Amino acid sequence: MADQTHGHDVRPRTAVLTRGFDPSLSFGSARPAVFRSSTYVFASPEAAERAFAITTGKIQPAPGERADLIYSRFSHPNAEILEDQIVPLEAGGREAAVFNSGMAAIMTAFFAYARPDSTIVYTTPLYGGTTGLIHTFLEPFGVRGIPVRSGDSAAIDAAIASARNCCIVYLETPANPTLIMTDIERAAQAASRHPDKPVVMVDNTFLGPTFQHPLLLGADITLYSATKYLSGFSDMVAGVAITKSSEAIRKLRSRRSMFGNILQPDECWMLDGRLPTVALRMNRQSKNAQRLAEALVGHKQFSRVIYPTLFEDLEQKRIFEKQCAYPGGILSLEFQGGKEAAFEFLRKVRIARNAVSLGSVETLTCHPKSTTHSGMSAEELAESGVTDGLVRVSVGIEDWRDLLADFEQALCG
Ligand SMILES: *Cc1c(COP(=O)(O)O)cnc(C)c1O
Repeated sequence: MADQTHGHDVRPRTAVLTRGFDPSLSFGSARPAVFRSSTYVFASPEAAERAFAITTGKIQPAPGERADLIYSRFSHPNAEILEDQIVPLEAGGREAAVFNSGMAAIMTAFFAYARPDSTIVYTTPLYGGTTGLIHTFLEPFGVRGIPVRSGDSAAIDAAIASARNCCIVYLETPANPTLIMTDIERAAQAASRHPDKPVVMVDNTFLGPTFQHPLLLGADITLYSATKYLSGFSDMVAGVAITKSSEAIRKLRSRRSMFGNILQPDECWMLDGRLPTVALRMNRQSKNAQRLAEALVGHKQFSRVIYPTLFEDLEQKRIFEKQCAYPGGILSLEFQGGKEAAFEFLRKVRIARNAVSLGSVETLTCHPKSTTHSGMSAEELAESGVTDGLVRVSVGIEDWRDLLADFEQALCG
């Protein structure tokens, strides 16, 4: 699709509105049409032959050439438009691939780089689905997972250095729901010193693409649950991978063609329309969360309010200041009164809704230990700080004073 700016000389907020969609290819429509076709008509049998040769990697496209569309399991116009528009949002990104869930993006990235009899070093805690994927699918195929505590830079260096036949270094930062941050640049440097040159992947769902830029810090691939901040309205499930190299995206797209987990045209169209407001929404969510966290800290019911601007650990403060532009829209509240007090709060809040997921314009709260993190062992829960009294809050774009009043009424009595 055409680049109407004839170059890459505009800033991300402009590029997201000018790149990747040429109205003349949609009868002048200001918004892209939705192309639901499963199959695409070729101009000639030679064109069909060439499209297949490019898509299957037998020949390289000419400079600037885009392979003709073939069949929508491989790609379709709405995926191409979305992929072109999302790239400028990820600093350091070159190409993107869209998937029908965040887990589909993560799974496809794992299967593109994992080899038999290899290892994957990963930070803990990870999103529950990702941990399950490593244990339930990768390990039986001979890919051994090596967990290492998030934020523990020395241990991460050591785990990477000693990993034998290492294919992937996988980071999720900040960790969910404790917001422990891992130094991406340092882990990427450790990976680059490893003789196997493992690919560095970062699940950037919590702070990206607006506040944290892993590809500028040495990572190779960022992964997203676009279900969260990128789409932002709790109304769709989607995933994105953004890479620094064209070779990486070819690998991901070729697996995606096999697995059939590309995002469908209607969902691509929806997500594409949400991109220009991602930074606006995330900025408001972050400001709201910061005001709430800083107003709630010290309240007698809490043993801790977890939020990046309230970090006390010097190493955590250092990583936050170095690596994140803003603290983001997630905070966690740890109730002195344990599960009972946490549940009481969840029952009483009125504006904030009790649901899993995050990143939406409405505020959502949940009790991780009994829900999102209930698959973890007692030992893992303790080690990663997921306690009985912990409540995670994904702050929305409501007026923060109403949210604060709501939380305060839920906290008293
Ligand atoms: C939600 C989430 C995922 C999984 O994404 P889906 O879109 O639900 O498949 C992965 N990583 C993180 C950090 C998430 O929050």
